[in-house]
Amino acid sequence: MNLQKLEELLKKEPGFRIKQIERAIYKDFYENWKDLTNIPIKLRDILNNEIDLSINGRIFQSDDLHSLKALIKLDDGITIETVLLMHREGRNTICVSSQAGCALGCTFCKTGDLGFKRNLKAEEIIIQVLFFSRYLKSHNSKITNVVFMGMGEPLLNYDNFLSTVKVLNDEDKFNIGQRKISVSTSGITEKIRMLADENLQINLAVSVNASNDEIRKKIMPIADKYKFNELLSAVKYYIEKTNRRVMLEYVLLKGINDLPENAEELSKKIKGLLCFVNLIPFNGEDQDKRPLTKNINEFKKILLINRISFTQRHKFGADIAAACGQLVFSKDI
Ligand code: SAH
Ligand code: SF4
Repeated sequence: MNLQKLEELLKKEPGFRIKQIERAIYKDFYENWKDLTNIPIKLRDILNNEIDLSINGRIFQSDDLHSLKALIKLDDGITIETVLLMHREGRNTICVSSQAGCALGCTFCKTGDLGFKRNLKAEEIIIQVLFFSRYLKSHNSKITNVVFMGMGEPLLNYDNFLSTVKVLNDEDKFNIGQRKISVSTSGITEKIRMLADENLQINLAVSVNASNDEIRKKIMPIADKYKFNELLSAVKYYIEKTNRRVMLEYVLLKGINDLPENAEELSKKIKGLLCFVNLIPFNGEDQDKRPLTKNINEFKKILLINRISFTQRHKFGADIAAACGQLVFSKDI
């Protein structure tokens, strides 16, 4: 698909025609121009010849039936992964990738192991949402939430990330409320501040993953550049500007950051902040990194005693490598 070319082709068309076509793509999720029976045949033929509506993707379903992973092949042959999580009560969350690979090399993350290939264009993020929208349409359902938690660091692809948010939120396009859109960042502080100034109501999630700089540096090389205090002050700024509650993600790694003193130190540092901690026990093959249940429980207990709100992330789709930090370039398409 080439949405930019589409815009050019439609430049001379009247507004109502553009609306009709947008509707067909973003609301009715048509995959074939021939289905747009309400537009003149001549225009339909032009569109049919010039713009390919198909998306080259393949779906994998997990045994729990609640998560699907799509591999999508881009025009230059790179494959990216996107995950759909189907919750109860018709809530469907799509987890999109914002970059092919990631340059930040967190030690616990498979995407980080791949290194960085390139930023995704806005259109390449949008087609991930279209792909699963089309799938869900055939099941009489739709995407209700979008999280930028797939491959890559969204705030290092800021402009394309933001353009995508606008398309998602646009009433004439996906019409997904800002409060249903979340972005997770490893903590690019100047971009967190920039995002705070955009006057949006989207949810911010920050991968804190440690209770101090020493531990953070060991597992997230980016922590060399952005200090813990600076990160917290950017989070505070986001809260001040948006009045939104921020999610602090914390991947629990056995013996590294899952100890009682880590829970104490974290609690002290974030006390009074409009936030909650989202605990994510390490996903992946490396048994040595998996926290023990008793340590997870102890960690939670300390947060509770310190009156820090927290949730524990449910592990979806481990069997299809769709859980957090498992997304890679798969050749299997
Ligand atoms: N780059 C962004 C967004 C993608 S990662 C970021 O780092 O925030 C989304 C979340 O998955 C992050 O909170 C990250 O810390 C977590 N994650 C990465 N690898 C993981 C793993 N192996 N197990 C559990 N969580 C992981
Ligand atoms: Fe990149 Fe996020 Fe993975 Fe770190 S956790 S390597 S920032 S995708």
